[in-house]
Amino acid sequence: MNNIKTKIMKNWKFLTILAILGGLIVMSFKPIDKKVIVIDAGHGGMDSGAQYNNFAEKQIVLNISEQIKKLNKNSDLEIILLRPDDKAISLTDRAAKINAINPDLVLSLHLNKSTNVDSSGIEAFVSEKNTFYDKSKNLAESFLNKLNFKELQNNGVKTKDLHILRTSNCPAILLEIGYLSNTNDRNFITSTLGQKEIAEKILNAIKD
Ligand SMILES: [Zn+2]
Repeated sequence: MNNIKTKIMKNWKFLTILAILGGLIVMSFKPIDKKVIVIDAGHGGMDSGAQYNNFAEKQIVLNISEQIKKLNKNSDLEIILLRPDDKAISLTDRAAKINAINPDLVLSLHLNKSTNVDSSGIEAFVSEKNTFYDKSKNLAESFLNKLNFKELQNNGVKTKDLHILRTSNCPAILLEIGYLSNTNDRNFITSTLGQKEIAEKILNAIKD
């Protein structure tokens, strides 16, 4: 009788250890390949950014950011909105938040405006002073190729020493998604369908 009891106890101990080990293995597989992307909608609050009639850059880039987050159904991809509402955030605070999150990529969204109404198209900026300059540049190039809008010409990747790009301790890209001052660009980026397409294509580009 005592022998059977000891055998059962031993089996229980063995099974418990097995269950704990199994749990540890499952847990260690979960978060490793999760990608974290910060979307930084430019401007906000008193700072409207570029404006044309009733259209404000701050609102359009916020709409697009919200849609990117909403459209994301991939559990291995976490999208964090740096500016989730119409509030001003200083560039210093933005950089501090980005570095506290320590994402795989920060994508800053802006719209362009020029006194030359013929200026049009989408372009990406990266900073040579960012530690991840090479990675940022390669990502920005493949990004623009993947976005491939028929309404917005591809103006390529340029370098600019912008605060967010320079101070982020991760790959960082700033996208200027078309010109509010250009009629064709404006018609696309201010339309519901245009903004939906922009959000879908950006999400697809950051997924890979
Ligand atoms: Zn801007």
